[in-house]
Amino acid sequence: MAENPKSSNSRKRQSGNNSVIVYAAQCGECFKWRVIPTQEEFEDMRSKFIEDPFFCNKKANVSCEDPADIEYDATRVWVIDKPNLPKTPPGFQRELVLRRDFSKMDTYYITPSGTRVRAPSSVASFLEANPECKGVSVSDFSFTPPKVMDDTVPENVKGPGPSSANKKMKALREGDDDV
Ligand SMILES: [Zn+2]
Repeated sequence: MAENPKSSNSRKRQSGNNSVIVYAAQCGECFKWRVIPTQEEFEDMRSKFIEDPFFCNKKANVSCEDPADIEYDATRVWVIDKPNLPKTPPGFQRELVLRRDFSKMDTYYITPSGTRVRAPSSVASFLEANPECKGVSVSDFSFTPPKVMDDTVPENVKGPGPSSANKKMKALREGDDDV
């Protein structure tokens, strides 16, 4: 992909159970982070993030002049998503759970019948057994987890232990800009 200015799209949400709490996107112009109110909105944006990056003015009454909604720092754990992951099909729910040792996130989907699927092969079996999910294909699902950003993981959470007080954040970044 082209070398676009670094623009990111992130999400986070508050949790008591190691899942994502709040979603946010980074402006491709001023690099400030803006909170994205819902998972659906976030996923919609993420699904076409490369061709349609985020800018502050996509939020109502917000411009690059306004202070950032949140800052990228270690007050919460950030995870960076890949751009252009498929938007979750209607009736399904995509869930991410951070492992207790903060090493990685696990991805699964909850189907319309309430079962959990954790792999493309399970999705395929489900779709086969549920022909009413017409128009939904295995390619609408991605089990690629976001990357846990080490520099935002608190020192004291290594190893098993209670971590319910920790805040998690999920982010999507265009391109691979690892240093
Ligand atoms: Zn901006």
